[in-house]
Amino acid sequence: MLELIELKKELTITNPSTGATIETLSETSFYEASQLINEAEKAQIGWAKTPIKERAQVFYKYLELLKNSKEELAKLVHLENGKTLSESIAEIEKSIELTEYACSLPQIAKGDLLEVSKGVTCTTSYEPIGVVANIAPFNFPHMVPHWTAPNALMLGNAVILKPSEHVPLSAIKMKEMLLKAGLPKGLFQTVLGGKSMVELLCENPTIKAVSFVGSTPIAKIVYAKASASHKRCIALGGAKNHLIVMPDAHPEMTANNVIASMSGCAGQRCMAASVMLAVGNCDNIINLMITEATKVIPNKTLGAVISKFAKEKIENHITLAEKQGAKILVDGRGITVTGKENGYYVGPTIIDHVTSEMTIAKEEIFGPVISIIRTESIEEALQIENDSEFGNAAAIFTQSGRTANETIKSFSAGMVGVNVGVPVPREPFSFAGWNDSKFGHGDITGDASILFWSNLKKTTTKWNPESKTNWMS
Ligand code: NAD
Repeated sequence: MLELIELKKELTITNPSTGATIETLSETSFYEASQLINEAEKAQIGWAKTPIKERAQVFYKYLELLKNSKEELAKLVHLENGKTLSESIAEIEKSIELTEYACSLPQIAKGDLLEVSKGVTCTTSYEPIGVVANIAPFNFPHMVPHWTAPNALMLGNAVILKPSEHVPLSAIKMKEMLLKAGLPKGLFQTVLGGKSMVELLCENPTIKAVSFVGSTPIAKIVYAKASASHKRCIALGGAKNHLIVMPDAHPEMTANNVIASMSGCAGQRCMAASVMLAVGNCDNIINLMITEATKVIPNKTLGAVISKFAKEKIENHITLAEKQGAKILVDGRGITVTGKENGYYVGPTIIDHVTSEMTIAKEEIFGPVISIIRTESIEEALQIENDSEFGNAAAIFTQSGRTANETIKSFSAGMVGVNVGVPVPREPFSFAGWNDSKFGHGDITGDASILFWSNLKKTTTKWNPESKTNWMS
């Protein structure tokens, strides 16, 4: 009956580089979503009984398909997200690395065994949880689903993926390719929709765990809703990443890294540099940054931002900073690209003499904008970084090992770098921030994700009738 009375909403997918409609899809209805969850639940029973080494065969095949389709998949990411083609290729390469890690899980998640007393052994094994949900943001349409789904599936679970309503095409393609690789039907489902679909996933009793990646306000809501339904949840939120630049930093390398970090993927990375804390006199580095910014060219080395709304929001932030007394050194407002006049482009922007009280210093901007706060000392710089409500990433640029080591210890962020503007941990090292950049325990990728996607079973066995019964066994 539900099927008959439910109205299905339309989802218009737009190409951010041109503003043109790519295609119109229907949102998944609640009835359809419930059916897909039921199908996943049934499929998971057989999958859970399949030995992990057999599950891995599907992912070896999938890995091969990913490698052979790299260009095609990158074009799809470029089309629906607006990042440049070379950034899109890098995104698929990261998905490949994540899938390679999933393929290695039989070697890593193999459990343990110990003879704890004569004739008595204890073993631990990683058991599947059941059906899990992955909720993804718009900025990495292919990579973020690969942070979660390959590991969750390899560990014997079924996955319901809800991509961002801006970029569902890569997720749909992922399902098609997993099926082609031999993943049993029903195990990996995509559902399309927004807020109410997320609510359904958080509340549906068949779903046992929820991963979320997106902005902090929504991460808080999802974490609270999923936890209230007694589900395990990891919810990664937004970011405001600080780079401390010391006067002894290598000038060219620093300028190049800071600009690449703030402008890569049009600044729409949760690892992007947002605030540069210039300690003492760093004018030579700032001048080089201005030169570097001239090499960042919209529609060539700089992609579009996701929507008209995002473009306006970023430009309004720059205008507000100017009104509040900051100095715009490079201005990316009002950019148009010939032939793509309706595309959502914001040029690289450098704002100097920002103070820690200004809005631009505190809120996530998510565009190709770097704010420079000038500080007298490294202690003052660290205080600003520590005071941020976020804690995704932070980095220091210096040639002093001692300064670097002391600063690493003092940063209040989950992923830190030394002379690296985007300190993303490569597999098998795990990914997640601290503070309001993450809610829940563990990390979302790598070894730290294994316990999130499984239940640890502890088994004690005694096969020797002569072994005595003692206080424990
Ligand atoms: P978003 O929070 O707007 O959306 C994320 C997901 O939540 C989408 O699938 C969306 O459909 C859903 N959603 C939106 N509103 C909702 C609501 N009211 N209730 C329930 N669900 C809702 O994020 P976005 O704009 O797609 O992505 C950008 C954000 O993601 C940035 O803040 C960025 O820092 C963050 N991000 C964080 C990480 C990380 O690792 N910490 C990685 C990538 C992106």
